[in-house]
Amino acid sequence: MKNVFVVLKKKFLVCVLVVLTMATGVLGVVGAKKTMSPKPQFAIVVDAGHGGVDGGAVGSQTGITENELNLQFAQTLKQICQEYGWKVVLTRSDLSGLYSPLASNKKRSEMEKRKEIIEKSKADLVVSIHMNSFADKSVCGANVFYAKESVQGQMLANAVQEIFFETMQVRNSKAKVGDYYILNCADKPSILIECGFLSNDKEELLLQDKEYQQQMCYAIFCGILKYFESL
Ligand SMILES: [Zn+2]
Repeated sequence: MKNVFVVLKKKFLVCVLVVLTMATGVLGVVGAKKTMSPKPQFAIVVDAGHGGVDGGAVGSQTGITENELNLQFAQTLKQICQEYGWKVVLTRSDLSGLYSPLASNKKRSEMEKRKEIIEKSKADLVVSIHMNSFADKSVCGANVFYAKESVQGQMLANAVQEIFFETMQVRNSKAKVGDYYILNCADKPSILIECGFLSNDKEELLLQDKEYQQQMCYAIFCGILKYFESL
């Protein structure tokens, strides 16, 4: 496990250097993180999937739910983006579901709520966080999805997937088309990230590791920055 982190850290530092170099040009940023004053200020929605009675996928060894992990990743990503001066709106900030308690169709109710939050936010883009699960336990790795018709969504998704490919040892360098409500509910570039597989024993533990969460969220941040730079 330690060796994996050493490799990840090295690759990650390369990514940070690349992106910081990029940021110098894009944002007029010079010098250390603390002295950065990025402009313009970007605004993003970070959506933690599931919640409440809908726990999502469950890890078979530890019983961790997707609900919990999605929230941890969303909060970590929020923190990183805010450090760079971005405005971040979370669709949820605790483990409760977004549906109305009285709703007969809770799934529909929560999706409508997510849509409402995204529309009100006036954000530049949407990042929805999920964890995957599959019958074949050997399958692992992060995948980024975008809506079929969205050119901007595809650009954003590929920017993030490429950073994953370069820094997180994932096999895919290209994002995939996904048919998800969250990708189509607003007229903004939107991506859904399946951060890893809770059905894979190794990844179930890795996804709960705080250092790994930081690295993955930083990779997502780097991908979004790369996308903004391409505009
Ligand atoms: Zn999910």
